[in-house]
Amino acid sequence: MKIQVSHLTDGLHSDHLLDSASAFGFENPDDFAGKIKVDITIDKRRSDFYLKFAVMAKVFLVCDRCLERFESLFEDEARALYTTNEKLVTDDSGSTYLIQEGQRELEVGTEVREIVVLALPIKTVCSENCKGLCKCGRNLNKEACTCEEPDIDPRWETLKKLKNTN
Ligand SMILES: [Zn+2]
Ligand SMILES: [Zn+2]
Repeated sequence: MKIQVSHLTDGLHSDHLLDSASAFGFENPDDFAGKIKVDITIDKRRSDFYLKFAVMAKVFLVCDRCLERFESLFEDEARALYTTNEKLVTDDSGSTYLIQEGQRELEVGTEVREIVVLALPIKTVCSENCKGLCKCGRNLNKEACTCEEPDIDPRWETLKKLKNTN
């Protein structure tokens, strides 16, 4: 996924991308519902480009508790530097990309993928109130289960006994 920069003068510009997850080079395009929208602010300073990305997408996540797939809105922002100065590009300079003097377009797919992959939550629940799965495998959001009473924490049992003796 590339943006044209050859026509830009020094200063601020904006660009917009709207395309499918596979066009952005995502490995699992099925994890996205619809297109990915990216608003880019470009600050051109001589042969360097300071970019700000705002990424919006609908993603499918799997709930950690009930294992159902659900749709979630993803929104995040990040900055990246596209520079001709090799010294600025080191192993730990995450979002810095080396470009050639007079390069006509910038490859932004890598950065967009990184923004999404890094920001997606590691732990996900479909809702704060998700009841999860019963030991028997039933989804407790959809049906009540009678197979087993929930385990009572033994500490509460002790408390109850104490209360009863008062
Ligand atoms: Zn859930
Ligand atoms: Zn059950």
